Amino acid sequence: MERLADKLVNWASILEEKTRRQAETAATMPFIHPHIALMPDAHLGKGATVGSVIPTDGAIVPAAVGVDIGCGMIAVRTQFTAADLAGRDLSVLREAIERSVPLSAGAANREVLPTAAPRVAELEALQPHRAAFREQLVPRWRTALGTLGSGNHFIEVSLDETDVVWLFLHSGSRGPGNKLATHHIAVAQRLCAQWFVPLPDRDLAYLVEGTPEFDDYLADLQWAQHFALLNREEMMDRVAARLSEFLGVDVVEQERINCHHNYTAREKHFGREVWLSRKGAIAADEGRPGLVPGSMGTASYVVVGKGNRMSLNSSPHGAGREYSRSAARRTFTHEQLREAMKGIEYRDTDAFLDEIPAAYKNIDRVMADAADLVEVRHTLRQVVNVKG
Ligand code: 5GP
Ligand code: MN
Ligand code: MN
Repeated sequence: MERLADKLVNWASILEEKTRRQAETAATMPFIHPHIALMPDAHLGKGATVGSVIPTDGAIVPAAVGVDIGCGMIAVRTQFTAADLAGRDLSVLREAIERSVPLSAGAANREVLPTAAPRVAELEALQPHRAAFREQLVPRWRTALGTLGSGNHFIEVSLDETDVVWLFLHSGSRGPGNKLATHHIAVAQRLCAQWFVPLPDRDLAYLVEGTPEFDDYLADLQWAQHFALLNREEMMDRVAARLSEFLGVDVVEQERINCHHNYTAREKHFGREVWLSRKGAIAADEGRPGLVPGSMGTASYVVVGKGNRMSLNSSPHGAGREYSRSAARRTFTHEQLREAMKGIEYRDTDAFLDEIPAAYKNIDRVMADAADLVEVRHTLRQVVNVKG
């Protein structure tokens, strides 16, 4: 750990100059307490850096969570081992998963399935005073529950170091969360302009605690976070059902971990209750389980937090991008992607060229940087990868 500025501490040994400057700018905001913590996977984000932990007192910066409110990971440890998968055609399982979870940007379920119905009811009852607003802004949220999304949202079947089969999945709050976040970021920008609030970056516009706009954001944020959590649960149930069918034996779950990496929570740090926003970071309180994905062709990790005080009990949320999507498309070839994906059952298309493992930071280096933040419990290698 190194201190980069009065209110900025850093764990990243690979840190672009632009990213560093962006984090330094955020750290000058007057309501940061005690400091921003930059994680090993830090890279440039909109307004706030991806891979940063931002504690605020008396205000909230909606861009400190970003537009995929509640994005995160879920994992299930099954009773199966590599031997149960041996000799089977994994493309059958991959295609069954692809049919049962709507993939890509605009995709939705045709109807609310029986498994999703209680989850929809739970969300209807949450933050009821904001229901009318939600229905107006995101009327189709019910069929968005149980959808993966595009880009680097993924579903994997993996083996750990003892050959145990895990299911592993990355997704967030989809269109509904995106629309809610976009709305509140615009409200914050309008208010800051109206009151002549000086901002080093328009995307750091904030809402002040005690105002109705703050309360509305918080309510919608909490709703979208819960949507994301249940979205992952719903998809994981479907994926587990597909694995059960594929093997002809029901999955008996040994463990389920579901964690956000884009979210805000009320937490106590250095003697004060603050709004703690993790944008591309997971909670790593002592003993708390967490998930750190690598890339579509490298290892991912099941970790347990060490409760590092200076990191505000946090950990990286992945490898983090090293190449932008466009740079990756220019730099790498379809052949290199095939090479990197050898032995993994995946959809072989150059649509995923910008997701090639080499477009991300080296996950081993990131985990080495995070040695005082988390302990590795399991190392997962994917045998099936489904991208959004
Ligand atoms: P995010 O979009 O949440 O900022 O990034 C999540 C992290 O997931 C990335 O930093 C990267 O390390 C990891 N990742 C991206 N695609 C895949 C994938 O297909 N499989 C796995 N296991 N990890 C991935
Ligand atoms: Mn996301
Ligand atoms: Mn994410």
